[in-house]
Amino acid sequence: MSDPQEIRTDVLIVGASLAASAAAKRLVDAGFDVVALERRTLPRDKVCSGILSPRGHRFLVENFGPLPPEALHEPASCRGVTFHFPSMISIPMDFNGGPTPHLHRKFSDYWAIKQSGVTVHDNTTFLDLRDDGKEVTVRARKDCRDVFYRARFVIGADGPKSGVTKSLYPDYRTGIAWFMVGQKFQRIIECPLDRDYFHFWFHPGLGHYTWSHERNDQQIVGVGFPAGGNLHRAHANVERYLEEKHGVRLEPAEKLEGCAQNFGPSLINRYVFGKGNVLITGQAAGFFNMLAEGMSCALHSGAISGEAVIEALKRNLPVQEVYRTLIASEVRRCTDQWNPLQILLGNPHEADFKASFRRLSRRDRIRVVRDLLDFLRIYAPYKWGRQMLGQAMVRLLKGDYPSERWL
Ligand SMILES: Cc1cc2nc3c(=O)[nH]c(=O)nc-3n(C[C@H](O)[C@H](O)[C@H](O)COP(=O)(O)OP(=O)(O)OC[C@H]3O[C@@H](n4cnc5c(N)ncnc54)[C@H](O)[C@@H]3O)c2cc1C
Repeated sequence: MSDPQEIRTDVLIVGASLAASAAAKRLVDAGFDVVALERRTLPRDKVCSGILSPRGHRFLVENFGPLPPEALHEPASCRGVTFHFPSMISIPMDFNGGPTPHLHRKFSDYWAIKQSGVTVHDNTTFLDLRDDGKEVTVRARKDCRDVFYRARFVIGADGPKSGVTKSLYPDYRTGIAWFMVGQKFQRIIECPLDRDYFHFWFHPGLGHYTWSHERNDQQIVGVGFPAGGNLHRAHANVERYLEEKHGVRLEPAEKLEGCAQNFGPSLINRYVFGKGNVLITGQAAGFFNMLAEGMSCALHSGAISGEAVIEALKRNLPVQEVYRTLIASEVRRCTDQWNPLQILLGNPHEADFKASFRRLSRRDRIRVVRDLLDFLRIYAPYKWGRQMLGQAMVRLLKGDYPSERWL
């Protein structure tokens, strides 16, 4: 047998999705030699609603240029989000700044990684790493053979079940809450839900997050619940509800997609940013905005991880120190979205919920608040409420979220 292959590069990025593309773009632009590892063969599918926030949209256009037509699903854009409540009040909210693209992740992610200029090694799975302080050695697997990479820095942009995080913190995965999300694709017989909006239900009887929207003449019905639950049963329950309450009639499902999600870290400011010369970014770090909107924070945090490497080298500083200083702005943006005080006093989202809420009658406002409180009760077992309030108070008094809570 021949010796295992060994590849040297300045920075190795694990993953070739949006956080990886953004990190790569910064580093390639700065003249670094960068390789991105991707376990799947590109272009790869990605379970995602594909609804991009205005900030995510701006990032893509500014950094990678206009989106190519194959990167969009039909309807090609989304006007905003409609919240639905058990009392049958629905609140449509337009995104600030107008409609945003409905991304086809298979092709948008492929386009972004190509536009970044990084060298991609796809069909290559990260296994583990060793950081000796000067160089990080990564062991990966391609075509049933080990491949070794040696890099000055490694950026883990490998999504919720991050192998990079696991190799730094073996117990991390067992210490956080996991949710299963699943969506089925069904031909539409009749659907009164406005196709220009992403629909979300705050209904404790349906699931921890429940959504629906149209894509390519099919309706997506999605439901999220604590890992270990039964997806088909949860989905059937939502489908029945949509038919009874909203008149949505669909043919049997043609396709099912599902995956596990790490959803809590951004709510309670428990991010994981890595150690030594290994940075964690994107959803692997815990970035997840409200309503499962993870693309904009993946892009921005990814870019910040790339900038941190550049700055650390330029100023001869430890990269963790630089990263943790720079990433605080993205932590603020993301955790503010969950922060009850920021929601009450500010406007952390990219659609104006408060303005839409104010348009309701007094009676309906009381019903919505009651529905929201009822909904939040299903999260009680995670004991996030007190932590969220504690973090909200620190943010209010000190202007920032404490970095001591980050790994
Ligand atoms: C059902 C659902 C709906 C969603 N809807 C939306 C939405 O409408 N809008 C929105 O903004 N966000 C949405 N999200 C969230 C969004 O998809 C993610 O937050 C975002 O993709 C995170 O980007 P990332 O680059 O950090 O990681 P990911 O996109 O998860 O990419 C990680 C990459 O790393 C690769 N990888 C993983 N392990 C390894 C390994 N060991 N070796 C090599 N490569 C590896 C993966 O194959 C993948 O390509 C949704 C998520 C789900 C599950």
